[in-house]
Amino acid sequence: MNKLTCPQCKKEIELQKSKKDIFFYFCKDCNIGGKGENETEAKRNFLKAYEQQKNSLAILLPPKSKNDIPAWVQNNLILFFNNPLNLLTSQLQKD
Ligand SMILES: [Zn+2]
Repeated sequence: MNKLTCPQCKKEIELQKSKKDIFFYFCKDCNIGGKGENETEAKRNFLKAYEQQKNSLAILLPPKSKNDIPAWVQNNLILFFNNPLNLLTSQLQKD
């Protein structure tokens, strides 16, 4: 089986296959997952999910200085419009 190193916790994750022939990678520790019709797609979606999770952390951190505020607002707005459901879910899981 193919393996992928989780970019967040550096743990090796094994490629898994569901009954419906969907391949997926899932890191239990980081709660990051990606699936696809093949290994490449699963990997791509996993890394995409990782990026999204990483970016969504930004919303919890206040801007460091006044100059950062416009960029911060813009980033968070983009995040929200791009993936409101995902963002909401990741926020809820942090509680
Ligand atoms: Zn991980």
